[in-house]
Amino acid sequence: MNDQQLLRYSRHILLDQIGIEGQQKLLAARALVIGAGGLGSPAAMYLASAGVGQITLVDNDTVDLTNLQRQIAHTTERVGQPKAESARQTLGQINPEISVIALNERADEARLHALVAEADVVLDCTDNFATRHAVNRACVALGKPLVSGAVIRFDGQISVFDPRSGTQPCYSCLFPQDQKFEDVACSTMGVFAPLVGVVGAMQAAEALKLLMDVGTSLAGRLLMLDGLYMEWTSIGVARNGDCPVCGGCAA
Ligand SMILES: [Zn+2]
Repeated sequence: MNDQQLLRYSRHILLDQIGIEGQQKLLAARALVIGAGGLGSPAAMYLASAGVGQITLVDNDTVDLTNLQRQIAHTTERVGQPKAESARQTLGQINPEISVIALNERADEARLHALVAEADVVLDCTDNFATRHAVNRACVALGKPLVSGAVIRFDGQISVFDPRSGTQPCYSCLFPQDQKFEDVACSTMGVFAPLVGVVGAMQAAEALKLLMDVGTSLAGRLLMLDGLYMEWTSIGVARNGDCPVCGGCAA
């Protein structure tokens, strides 16, 4: 690190659990952020400010006026622009020293596999179950840690699925693929703006911890937030031995 970097990251370096060694891990790390909306905005902005060396943003949507109430990486003047590109501009303004790759596309299974393969940590910031399951399958197949967040109305949830452990559940253990979950879109249900910030920032925190291998991750736990009463509930999540995604490789 040069003098400017030592200054930029000094408040991380002061932390015993991070120090220069941890910060260098972040600078060498690659994060994949799928979705540049309500969760992806704060998640990617903190990854960028914290110095994650390469951030890949995937989103096929464009910025809409209705997004600006909560998707803080975007601005009024960028309405109509691709979200991935808009977020890339914001991240570049926060930290021009990192590499940000903006992919304006909806990644299919094969594409997700290729993108996950090149990442050290994956953040699921999407809003539909089909993509969530596809991301999970790729992470299990490739042994990559997945930080999953979701928010609707006044409710949020976050967990980590870490297939490297060999004992922790995957996303499908918790939400089976054959189970019919209704996709409840923000466009019809509404969402309380700061909750995506709360959950998205926590996704960044978990991703940074995983990249530096500090602390204890949320693997095996699901945190649920009731934003109206501002109460957190933590539940243990066990691996499903019959899970078609991760069960076959159970030891
Ligand atoms: Zn599983």
